[in-house]
Amino acid sequence: MAKFLLFIAVLAVVYWLVRASNRRGRPPPAARMPESMTQCAHCGVHFPRDESVSEGGRDYCCEDHRRLGVRS
Ligand SMILES: [Zn+2]
Repeated sequence: MAKFLLFIAVLAVVYWLVRASNRRGRPPPAARMPESMTQCAHCGVHFPRDESVSEGGRDYCCEDHRRLGVRS
């Protein structure tokens, strides 16, 4: 009987983990910025994400700033 209860508990934990990971994989639409703006990691200017040059998870406003990298 104790093993049966343990089995049920394991199933419940697995079910909870699957639900949690599904929720993390699909962020709600409200989490996105309305205009989809981003900031250049080098000069700090704001511009539409569509025009960004990305590298290493950072956005840059142009190819030159991507090459120069993050301003230190
Ligand atoms: Zn820039």
